[in-house]
Amino acid sequence: MIVKLLKYKGIIFDDWAENEDGSIWAEMCAECAEQYKNILTNELDDGGTARGSCSVYGCNHTGEDNETAHYYVDFNMEYVEFIEEEDNILECCSVSTKY
Ligand SMILES: [Zn+2]
Repeated sequence: MIVKLLKYKGIIFDDWAENEDGSIWAEMCAECAEQYKNILTNELDDGGTARGSCSVYGCNHTGEDNETAHYYVDFNMEYVEFIEEEDNILECCSVSTKY
C-alpha cells in the first residue's frame, strides 16, 4: 500500500488538515512537540484544544485523557514536501492504518 506523507524539515507526518486558503496544519502531542521544538521554532501553537491523534508518523498518542493537550503545527508552505512511500519502507512499530 502506498501512503502519502508530509515531510517538513525532516519530520514526517501521516495526517494533516488544509484550510480554505491552502494553508496546512496538523496536531502534535506534547511529547513530540518537546522533541521537535528546536526544529519547529515558529510553527508550534499551544492551542490547547486539539484532541485527536498525534500527526507525527509512527506516533499514536491521543489527547483524549485531557492531560496531554496537543499542539497545533502551522506549516510554513516553503518547507512542506509531499512524499509517497510504501508503508513498510519506514521502519516503525506503529504504522498508521488511516490510509
Ligand atoms: Zn506525538
